[in-house]
Amino acid sequence: MSRAMETRPRLPAPPRLAHLLAEGPLALFLDFDGTLVEIAEGPDAIAVPQGLAGGLQRLASRLGGALALVSGRSIDNLTGFLGPLPLHLAGSHGGHVLAPGGTPLREAEPLPASVAEALGGYAQDNGLLYERKAHGGALHYRARPEREEEVHRFAAGLAADHGLATKAGKCVIELVWPGADKGGAVDLLCREAPFAGALPVFVGDDVTDEDGFAACARLGGFGIAVGERNSAAARHSLASVKDVHAWLEL
Ligand SMILES: [Mg+2]
Repeated sequence: MSRAMETRPRLPAPPRLAHLLAEGPLALFLDFDGTLVEIAEGPDAIAVPQGLAGGLQRLASRLGGALALVSGRSIDNLTGFLGPLPLHLAGSHGGHVLAPGGTPLREAEPLPASVAEALGGYAQDNGLLYERKAHGGALHYRARPEREEEVHRFAAGLAADHGLATKAGKCVIELVWPGADKGGAVDLLCREAPFAGALPVFVGDDVTDEDGFAACARLGGFGIAVGERNSAAARHSLASVKDVHAWLEL
């Protein structure tokens, strides 16, 4: 049997948004890169569709405010692309969570300076891109995909030496504090109005979104996996960013 034939069958499309809303309160947790915007060569190279910020605000109104962006990016970086948004924002994989208006619901510490320096030096020596974040640091190797194994080994070693955790994504590995994950952001927000009591649904394209899918499933909701990646925890799938926009009626 060929490898292609061993991949799991595609998960079914989710019920239509209007159908879910007709059944009761709905809470949406949306990843950003690869979900709302197309993945680009580097984190700064993304093209944000015109009208995305306005569309998300209208969607949040339809949901009674129960919409959160949950991204690996820092919140400052997200709002740099989208403008100041009156939404719940979870950045740094859930390490930093703000309510609309900027009230912090969770704050995490920045990485130790020695770790940030080690990551920056390694990136410079190896032709990689180092992204300094408020609560972590990421090595992007999209330009050098053949270095994946050694980049991961370096990141894992550095994390182990400093009691940190790693998060791997598409051509990126990041060092974060243990416990900062997207499932934690879902759990935190689902204890707060207007998320509490609503059906939680998480939409995302990457490995780090699995924690969000699993948290929603534990709370009676489900995950929607975007793209071709096989998901362990999602119940539904959408094929592309374009399909996400259509499903969200943006
Ligand atoms: Mg993503």
